Amino acid sequence: MLEVEQAFERIIAHFSPLDTVELPVLECLGLALAEDVTSPLNLPPLANSAMDGYAVLHDDIASADDAAPKLSVISAVVAGQVSDQTVTRGKAIRIMTGAPVPDGADTVVPFEETDELDRRRAGTPLDEIVIRKALPLGSNVRPAGEDVRAGELVLSAGTVIRPAEAGVLASLGLATARVIRRPVVAVLSTGDELTTVGEELAPGHIYDSNSSSVAAAVRAAGGEAKIIGIARDNLDDLHRCIDAASDADLLVTSAGVSKGDYDMVKDVLEQRGDMNFWSVRMRPAKPLAFGLIQREESEPLPLLGLPGNPVSALLAFEMFGRAAVRRMLGRDLLARPTVEGVLTGPIFNSDGRRVYARVEVERRDGTWFATPTGPQGSNILTSLSKANGLAICPADLPRKNAGQAVKIIMLDWNEEVNA
Ligand code: AMP
Ligand code: MG
Repeated sequence: MLEVEQAFERIIAHFSPLDTVELPVLECLGLALAEDVTSPLNLPPLANSAMDGYAVLHDDIASADDAAPKLSVISAVVAGQVSDQTVTRGKAIRIMTGAPVPDGADTVVPFEETDELDRRRAGTPLDEIVIRKALPLGSNVRPAGEDVRAGELVLSAGTVIRPAEAGVLASLGLATARVIRRPVVAVLSTGDELTTVGEELAPGHIYDSNSSSVAAAVRAAGGEAKIIGIARDNLDDLHRCIDAASDADLLVTSAGVSKGDYDMVKDVLEQRGDMNFWSVRMRPAKPLAFGLIQREESEPLPLLGLPGNPVSALLAFEMFGRAAVRRMLGRDLLARPTVEGVLTGPIFNSDGRRVYARVEVERRDGTWFATPTGPQGSNILTSLSKANGLAICPADLPRKNAGQAVKIIMLDWNEEVNA
């Protein structure tokens, strides 16, 4: 039997970041920059006002607390304009937020610190303004290049594009970015008992749920899922389906990899490449296959063979497939985050494997609590649907009891209950 970590290392060694593409910024969401981005411009490009007010010379207002100087207002400037006038001693220009600060001015006095409102109420013209408060030099002026200087490194290679980065790129005038491309992951179910969703369920059949759950997990991990469909348990069909996956970066199959199984899948895979069939010391998802399928005029195609049971398939993808996708995306962190919590119900371990129990994780009074979500059979997919975490019982412990500390892999963070 292989430890989970050994299987992980053997699989992940075959993956590295993929080649790069230039994409519109919105399509880069979740992808890693392939190169450093330096700024072609100053941000902001010109010094501009942080407030609505009056652009003045600091020397004119330094004594405003006592003297209340009166300045003549020579013009106004709004955002999007550049004033062609210069502020000199005794003069001011009315300025709106975001407007470039006119030449000569070094300070902006907000409306509230002037007599503008009184003038408006009294109907007094605004060609003069009284400054009522002395402000420090440079107040309310955002200097050119305050955020970013031309030539500065703004985003380094490897940075993952989130909404803020999309905005930063746009603010530099960049509509596209060069990123590591999404891996294409072909998803193939195998089994004579499977019916494609949307078709009538044949007698003795079950719906193929692994194609949907694994493809969704591929997409959630940042990959592009290509659903191949169902390969029947015969040689020709399996060969045909593997051929259909030949342009993918990874082929993920489910079922037909366990010992004592109808081992057609094994035969075909072994014929087509260099395959390993493992028993991994974990529950669920003990049987696992990994190897390289030969293809013409191209590097071999990595194949991850998941067990067939729906919980095992998805959990094995979570542990191994998701990490492979992330590595191909150029991510450094391959595993889900974990927290230390307290169990509220027992986890049983019948045969010395590491148990990943489906739990609902909640944070109460600063402590994480993990509650098993029900029957833990590897066919009970609804108990995975109710879970937002996997609580771990180590291989050498026969059980973990309520009240005991437990390590939990967070599948997602339930924002409602973690408030
Ligand atoms: P196998 O590895 O072929 O023995 O499959 C193990 C179990 O998983 C069997 O009960 C299968 O019917 C079930 N199973 C296999 N593939 C799928 C699938 N794509 N969707 C739902 N259940 C499946
Ligand atoms: Mg089968």
